[in-house]
Amino acid sequence: MLQTTIAGSLPKPAWLAETGKLWPEWRAAGADLAEAKRDATLLVLKLQEDAGIDIVTDGEQSRQHFVHGFLERVAGIDFAHKVEMGIRADRYKAMVPVVTGPLHLTGRVHETEAKIARAHTAKKLKFTLPGPMTIVDTIADRYYGDKVKLAMAFAELLNQEALALQADGVDVIQFDEPAFNVYMDEVSAWGIAALHRAAQGLTCTTAVHICYGYGIQANIDWKGTLGSEWTQYEKTFPALAASNIDQVSLECRNARVPMHLMTLLAGKDVLVGVIDVANDAIETPEQIANLIGEAMKYVAKERIVACTNCGMAPMHRDIAAAKLAALGAGVALARQKFG
Ligand code: ZN
Repeated sequence: MLQTTIAGSLPKPAWLAETGKLWPEWRAAGADLAEAKRDATLLVLKLQEDAGIDIVTDGEQSRQHFVHGFLERVAGIDFAHKVEMGIRADRYKAMVPVVTGPLHLTGRVHETEAKIARAHTAKKLKFTLPGPMTIVDTIADRYYGDKVKLAMAFAELLNQEALALQADGVDVIQFDEPAFNVYMDEVSAWGIAALHRAAQGLTCTTAVHICYGYGIQANIDWKGTLGSEWTQYEKTFPALAASNIDQVSLECRNARVPMHLMTLLAGKDVLVGVIDVANDAIETPEQIANLIGEAMKYVAKERIVACTNCGMAPMHRDIAAAKLAALGAGVALARQKFG
């Protein structure tokens, strides 16, 4: 009972990429960069194992950004002439690449890091991919002219990579869909269908991660406008409960999400966010165990996986490492208390 995992990303070492940025520049190129990515991947696996994390990830050390890392291997996209676009209903602006032709993969996206990670840990391995709705909300389109068509085109490519990752020995494939908390009506209209296309044929565990974003200022400001109770999940969880996806990862620690909304996820494993990534204060094992105890009022304990609220990519490395250790210690305490 009570497994533990992380949402996906961990901060990159300063010798690999710029720190504290969502779109960091790499510190090296060519073979040196490939070696640095490999070394960083081994390092984050070790950190997670030492912290007692059960389902580990590559920490997303080999991708510049959680969406654009996937796009780099997609043909039909112009990266040379980026345009400014409002992201997540104009919450913040970003320079994004443009879809200019039919999309197809030019090769494997995450084969190298998946194989390195698989070869160096006996733990269960999770790999994250951006979800179709979140991709179409993070790229400009001058070819498909229709959001749903564009999402389905990306879903097909995600599916190719997901099937290949499964063949590499990955145990869990997670699609990251922060956009599900922004375009709630579109989730049931086409978001789940696009997820299903992306997960088609997978026999490994599948997950979807939905959150209120990294701890960047634009997200903190946005959360300030959401009122005393955050009810976005109320609209999307029933649709997810009816979906084929096995696990749902949600934000909980320091969030104004009513915990009873987890009852809407009957039949799913629930990845409960017990680590706040928007705050440098290190959670205590007692705080984590208590939050798990609260979640157990709404979700059977064998269906709870303790997790972080979101990725830790933009955080300071020492803070992220301390939070990882706290997560492991908190779950160990919860097992004692509730086991
Ligand atoms: Zn997230």
